[in-house]
Amino acid sequence: MKPLPDSRGYFGPYGGRFVPETLMAPLEELTQAWQEARRDRAFRRELAELLSTYCGRPTPLSFAGRLTKHLGGAAVYLKREDLCHTGAHKINNAVGQCLLARRMGKARVIAETGAGQHGVAVATAAALLGLHCRVYMGTEDERRQALNVYRMKLLGAEVVGVDAGSKTLKDAINESLRDWVSSVSSTHYVMGSVMGPHPYPVMVREFQSVIGSEALLQIRKQHRSLPKMIVACVGGGSNAAGIFSAFVPYRQVDLVGVEAGGRGTRLGEHAARFSGGTPGVLHGTRSYVLQDQHGLVAETHSVSAGLDYPAVGPEHAWWHDSRRVTYVRVSDEEALDAFHLLSELEGIVPALETAHALAYVSHVAPRLGPGQAILVNLSGRGDKDVSEVARLEGVTL
Ligand SMILES: *Cc1c(COP(=O)(O)O)cnc(C)c1O
Repeated sequence: MKPLPDSRGYFGPYGGRFVPETLMAPLEELTQAWQEARRDRAFRRELAELLSTYCGRPTPLSFAGRLTKHLGGAAVYLKREDLCHTGAHKINNAVGQCLLARRMGKARVIAETGAGQHGVAVATAAALLGLHCRVYMGTEDERRQALNVYRMKLLGAEVVGVDAGSKTLKDAINESLRDWVSSVSSTHYVMGSVMGPHPYPVMVREFQSVIGSEALLQIRKQHRSLPKMIVACVGGGSNAAGIFSAFVPYRQVDLVGVEAGGRGTRLGEHAARFSGGTPGVLHGTRSYVLQDQHGLVAETHSVSAGLDYPAVGPEHAWWHDSRRVTYVRVSDEEALDAFHLLSELEGIVPALETAHALAYVSHVAPRLGPGQAILVNLSGRGDKDVSEVARLEGVTL
């Protein structure tokens, strides 16, 4: 079978480019520039150098001994993206795209952000490479994530509040696309996940595929075989695509994506696109979208801001329909339990996003044999979530 996406950016019926006419040429220019860069030894060497000397790669693979013993089944291994500079996998993509922007002669980058994690990663990479940086953020998110707003400003970025719609991530993406239409000759838009129009889904997956390539070598060395299962949380889907990509060809490895089940199964109470959504177009790409019967994009809810998005990357839609990846949902409450479990048993406070993957692991590990291994992508650290968890649990700080 030919590798996907095809030349027009389709993964089966998903993906593509649903954008205003003025963005068609710039997206084609970006595709060409990226294709050239990824074949260029000098570019690959510079990216590899930054990933190792700046971002902290390769990240370790840790055997979670006490968690394994507690669950009483499969051996659990953690791919430690929480140890990346800025605390999550997002820097891998931000550094890659900012390096590409500089190569394309663009002095300015823009980005959208929800919780602020992608905004911080882009502001960081832009500071490193001397690029002007503007980050769009819904005003509701600015209020909830005031610390990250200040962090981006410290890094020299300009943060622009978006007061439209639900004043959250989806509105920030709309505003970023609007900016890009009018500034495209000087500006690169750094998309934060495997979503948006072609080439973003495939390009971001490739920048994140370093997670999977490292993990494949590490698990073979440390466990002496392939894992039975790989588990990752799925917001837009970049950390999952990054770790899955190396293992997709190994049919014996089960791949599981975990979505935010929120506080219920009704539309508006969760962000589980595969059990609650239907195919549609959002932000330039065709994929599963949470929408009502008229195609109006639904509100979403999750305790974890990074999973709280009404659509999902188009490659995940393809993996879902072709049954290569299984998608499950985990509730707010289960994620909070797993947040505590990993903190207490392993001395690692995980991001609330990651806690969704860990909650699924705690269900499934006891059902697998002790000779088998589960590999979890520990997408980020939980420092950013500590005060929110305290608030939810009625602890005054
Ligand atoms: C942003 C984020 C996610 C969700 O984004 P994906 O593109 O699905 O990876 C997951 N975990 C952490 C720690 C994040 O910051």
